Amino acid sequence: MTEAKILLEERGIRPTQQRMAVLRYLRDNRNHPTVDTIYSSLHDRMPSLSRTTLYNTLRLLSSAGLALSLTIEGDEIRFDGDTSDHGHCKCRRCGGVFDFPLPETLPLDLPDGFLGESVHIYAWGTCRRCASLS
Ligand SMILES: [Zn+2]
Ligand SMILES: [Zn+2]
Repeated sequence: MTEAKILLEERGIRPTQQRMAVLRYLRDNRNHPTVDTIYSSLHDRMPSLSRTTLYNTLRLLSSAGLALSLTIEGDEIRFDGDTSDHGHCKCRRCGGVFDFPLPETLPLDLPDGFLGESVHIYAWGTCRRCASLS
């Protein structure tokens, strides 16, 4: 838990047990979980964790730069403990979300004077596992 505690304290966030557990979960599980996935994984250990608290914690971690919230499609939000620049591809069959590296510089031609802060690149398709099942 120590690492999670330090990361939270560095950003001026009080390291409650629940916040540390959520941050640790995100850093340990790189499968881009939804709120529901995180909730069902943590609820056994932390019965006092409510869905609202979890959602607020995820928003807090995202705004503090400790997690990414990804809206790849529709209203489904996925969370990512890896905040480095990387792209995501989503399998249309199993719903899996996978990372892929981005080139150092992207061939982006942003409008003149626009100060870009972040770029999100999503790819859709079929993952290797699903492709091998068909
Ligand atoms: Zn798949
Ligand atoms: Zn990712």
